[in-house]
Amino acid sequence: MTIDRSSINKVAGVVRTALSLNVPITLETLCEAINKLDGECVVDSSGQLKVDAQITTVNDSDEQRKFEIRYLGNKCETRILFSIAHEMGHLFLHLLNKDGTLKQAETFQRNMETTQEELEANEFAAALLMPEEAFIVKSKELMSEDKINVTKMAEYFNVSVQAATVRGNVLELW
Ligand SMILES: [Zn+2]
Repeated sequence: MTIDRSSINKVAGVVRTALSLNVPITLETLCEAINKLDGECVVDSSGQLKVDAQITTVNDSDEQRKFEIRYLGNKCETRILFSIAHEMGHLFLHLLNKDGTLKQAETFQRNMETTQEELEANEFAAALLMPEEAFIVKSKELMSEDKINVTKMAEYFNVSVQAATVRGNVLELW
């Protein structure tokens, strides 16, 4: 099932508000928010993880922890942050049952494939980290001689220049 862009942005907004996540979101605040959801952010030290990040839901209703997001710690922080936000996209877009419980024992990986679910999780991550309103306000602030400094935008929102560029395109700012 395809989820349209505006719905994904709405879900990201609801999540941000519910978890009191203020922009700019950092790795620390995002992992704290995941703890509030009874999830856990874990740096992978097993050497088994072949992708930037993956989310796995727990297969035991007695367990306090509901899911785990495992990530490679040797990537730059902007990439780690986006990967974790991407996995949260899978959590809210693809791992919830109709009654609000989590599907059990499922895994999603950030494997750079361009399946529909991957694109949706990327859109969620961008919307979570770069909310439309804040992005537009900041772009006006960082405008000089009719040009927006995308590098500074990226620095402010803790994302890569590429991610900020894509977001600006999607929001039709440039
Ligand atoms: Zn994914």
